[in-house]
Amino acid sequence: MFVGHYCAAFVAKRIEPRLPLWSLLLAVQLVDVFWALFILLGIERASLDPALPGNPLVLSYMPYTHSLPATVVWSFAAAVLGVMLWARGEHKLKLGLTLAAAVASHWFLDLLVHRHDLALWDNAYKVGLGLWNQPMAAYALEVLLLSGSVALLAFSNSWPEARRRALAFLCIGLVFLQTATQFGATPNGLQLMVVSALLVYLLVPVAGYWAEE
Ligand SMILES: [Zn+2]
Repeated sequence: MFVGHYCAAFVAKRIEPRLPLWSLLLAVQLVDVFWALFILLGIERASLDPALPGNPLVLSYMPYTHSLPATVVWSFAAAVLGVMLWARGEHKLKLGLTLAAAVASHWFLDLLVHRHDLALWDNAYKVGLGLWNQPMAAYALEVLLLSGSVALLAFSNSWPEARRRALAFLCIGLVFLQTATQFGATPNGLQLMVVSALLVYLLVPVAGYWAEE
């Protein structure tokens, strides 16, 4: 899953407005940021098979970022950091749990689209419902999750009316990214794909910071 992951950030922002939007946009892709770094460093492994429908990624080894136990560890670490940074006095638990849920949402949303590459333990017992094999359904799901969650946030008390237009622009930009990625040319090699994904994961929170300012 790609931009659909951001739905968890918009829902979390509605639930816990004390968390800056940029932190949530980073949180929901946190394990993919590390996945990109770990692929580039050779710690995790993947390859491309252009014959596959929907998404050419073959994700053979990613126990540190996309296994269920790893998800628990990343979520806990993010929650601790978030509470230290943004919880002033009251309702620390709510803030921590919201951030942890944002990080953990990544695994469960990936579960819908990935083929059998998400490990329940270490690098074994792999699951994935494989919606990537139905590219149009996967695309529709991503766009629906994104636009639905943006609307849910935009028309709530957690988001200032004056910044609604900025949020709409962010949403349009993300739909464009999804469309270009899914229907554009298959990237030339895994490294290029991973580096461009990493850039997107880091630039989207910057855009989110702008949208909220
Ligand atoms: Zn992922």
